Amino acid sequence: MTAVEVNGRRYARPPAKTAVICLDGVDPRYLEDAFERTLVPRLAELTYLEARSQLPSFTNPNNLSIVTGAPPAVHGLPGNHYLAPDGEEVHLTDPVALRAPSIHAAFEDTGIPVLAVTTKDKLRLLLGAGHVPSVSAERAAGLELDGSGPVSAFVPRPVPGIYDWDCSHYALELGLALAARFDVELLYVSLTDFVQHSAAPREQLSDAYLVRLDELVGDYLDDGWRLGLVADHGMNPKPQIRFLGDVLADAGVDGAHVILPITDPYVVHHAALGSACWIHVDDTQLDRARDVVSAVPGVEDVLTRDEAAAELSLPPDRIGDLVVLADADTALGRAEREHDLSQLHGSLRSHGGRHEQRVPLLLSERPSDAGRELLEQGATNADVHWLLLGEGA
Ligand SMILES: [Zn+2]
Repeated sequence: MTAVEVNGRRYARPPAKTAVICLDGVDPRYLEDAFERTLVPRLAELTYLEARSQLPSFTNPNNLSIVTGAPPAVHGLPGNHYLAPDGEEVHLTDPVALRAPSIHAAFEDTGIPVLAVTTKDKLRLLLGAGHVPSVSAERAAGLELDGSGPVSAFVPRPVPGIYDWDCSHYALELGLALAARFDVELLYVSLTDFVQHSAAPREQLSDAYLVRLDELVGDYLDDGWRLGLVADHGMNPKPQIRFLGDVLADAGVDGAHVILPITDPYVVHHAALGSACWIHVDDTQLDRARDVVSAVPGVEDVLTRDEAAAELSLPPDRIGDLVVLADADTALGRAEREHDLSQLHGSLRSHGGRHEQRVPLLLSERPSDAGRELLEQGATNADVHWLLLGEGA
């Protein structure tokens, strides 16, 4: 039995094929409501638990925590985006930015077949770090594994667009088909949260999403997969937007630079507005900036770089001089003129702060005593692989 040690934890070779699925943006309230209405009978076969996301509650930091089993301080990605030392804003999509190996890369090194499937292509290279075969639904028509032709040929329907309601389901279909073809033992599938940004629990769109998700989870279970499902973050309506770039300029804090770590190439669903941001400001203005931002209604925490690195387990060199978290109803922006709100489908729903930290965790296997102990202490989404494969778990 091969075991690997990754980022300070030991994982045993999967005793049977094992898949972890990241339910992007699936707030626990979607599932709680669906369980109540018996909308998702196959998901109801799993043990339903709760966990916490990493902060800020954004997609990339949490996906990387799920696959490395470690917080952003270890893997190095606190957001989708950061201000590099040369003053350039950089998307954190290149694997050179990663500071820790994934669990999949460690198993791949020992010759165990692994695969990562992401819906959005932005995660593909990060999940592929360490020679992990990785494909995306978004680019399925243009990607191959082992020269076997475009991976889209393995799924008998056209590739949906990235803003179609069932693009996440396509990623799950792709995962199941490719895993069968390549005898994958450890599979990771990451969904996208376009539906959750657009629709609240009980809306027609989110019901359609959940019903199809449930069927696919049934397909995995019927095919003999051990499953762990966890979300990267929750989701809340954000009726209030605070443009901190404007607030700081109006207060005469010169040269402050607001970075929105939610920023990515896909802005249709959130217009780059989330409930966490970094502020870069020089030392002489730091206290003044902190006072100004702390007084903004809806702002919940304003932490210095050192405080945030310690309390939230973030890499200090990739966050701001200040780290700002907003409340459940509030999203943060830079200057109002820099955000194109006309692109939003309906009202803003987003994430990033402490109020989107509650995430669902569903397991097909009963946790061991050590696993139950961890769950009682409060697990995070970084624990999902350990709960399924951890030695002693
Ligand atoms: Zn997400």
